[in-house]
Amino acid sequence: MQLFEKLIDHHEAVRLVLENVPRLPVARVPLMDAQGLALAEDVRARFDSPPFDNSAVDGYAVRSADAEAGRTFKVVDEAPAGRPAQKKVGEGEAIKIFTGGVIPEGADAVVMVENTSGWGEEFELRKAAGPGNNLRGAGEDVREGDLMLRAGTEIGAPEIALAATQGYGDLPVYRRPRVVVLSTGTELVEPGTRELSPGEIFDSNSFALLAQAREAGAEARRVAAASDDADVLRNATEEALESADVVVTSGGVSVGEKDLVKSTLLNLGVEQVFWGIKLKPGKPVFFGTRNDARFFGLPGNPVSAMVCFELFVRPALMRMMGREDSRRPHVEVYFDEDVENKFGRMHAMRVTLTRAEGGWRAESVGAQGSGLVSSLTKADALALIGPESEGVRAGAPVEAIVLREEKLLGRPAG
Ligand code: AMP
Ligand code: MG
Repeated sequence: MQLFEKLIDHHEAVRLVLENVPRLPVARVPLMDAQGLALAEDVRARFDSPPFDNSAVDGYAVRSADAEAGRTFKVVDEAPAGRPAQKKVGEGEAIKIFTGGVIPEGADAVVMVENTSGWGEEFELRKAAGPGNNLRGAGEDVREGDLMLRAGTEIGAPEIALAATQGYGDLPVYRRPRVVVLSTGTELVEPGTRELSPGEIFDSNSFALLAQAREAGAEARRVAAASDDADVLRNATEEALESADVVVTSGGVSVGEKDLVKSTLLNLGVEQVFWGIKLKPGKPVFFGTRNDARFFGLPGNPVSAMVCFELFVRPALMRMMGREDSRRPHVEVYFDEDVENKFGRMHAMRVTLTRAEGGWRAESVGAQGSGLVSSLTKADALALIGPESEGVRAGAPVEAIVLREEKLLGRPAG
């Protein structure tokens, strides 16, 4: 057992985490697997797109010089999408064309079938057309060599669409971090396996942390909870460290006699970056490195574990994946009343957010105990009250980390 040597500031802890996580290797992944990942390199257009002048409508390709209302045209060929016409358009001639069809030689406009007497070998034009009408020009979407997608961009459906138009079958991305989640505690029972005996509780943290890791884009798996036994813990941790980029444990990281995580890690050659943060909840958080693996020892209290994941692990995962926006949205909030902070540490307070005239109004979700899992389902954001023992005055601006981004779309209350 060991006591905390020195507690560091929360912002300092985030900085140390980000400084000590590597970018993951770049891999080319099929388009369909690239969603949610960050581009590792700029992607440029390989050719003009669309690659040829084509029709925006169903109708007839004609020479605009001929396209006066009342004139009759002879249809000499057709140009559906994917099958260019064989013939050219001469004076008084037309080629039947459909959306996406290649504009035939000689034609410089398309008339919509709705503005003619209809489909046939011949038709009469009912409405005059000018040069370029209903044409989609080659290169009007992107030009060869254009920077289409910048390195660091998160790949979503529009980015996938753009890459596909340019024939890219795969994209260079930073791969997903492999995360292993391990709960520690002799009291823990796997949900769904049996009922609880006296003194036992169900393991909720490893499920919660797994969900958070996946939400952040990681490839995460959980392993069965380890008891507070030095050998069991050592084996489980070593196995996790061997197979993961990031290991996240919960519990056993404070100063109790059964808190063996930190000593186990140090024995396994993990180098401590920090242990102990001036933060509530989350004082005992441990962060260390071993070769390419990163280790987060989060506290066992469910709220602490999840809040600390948000504050430290999520930004680390994002950074490893090359995401420029490694942070959740931060907004400035205020409280209607003075808020005390008696903890001597920064308080990451669970709050609800309402859009009010003066900006975002925060209100505590109620009791802030670290074991109150139900409180997390009510929280929209974490308001950072502090540092240390300073509270905040009613109306004063406070930084808050938004957990439910959809909340930011909310309408004014009332
Ligand atoms: P510890 O950090 O190990 O001292 O645990 C602090 C509190 O969190 C204790 O009440 C534990 O029973 C509880 N706890 C630890 N691990 C978990 C877990 N995986 N799921 C739910 N609660 C836990
Ligand atoms: Mg424990």
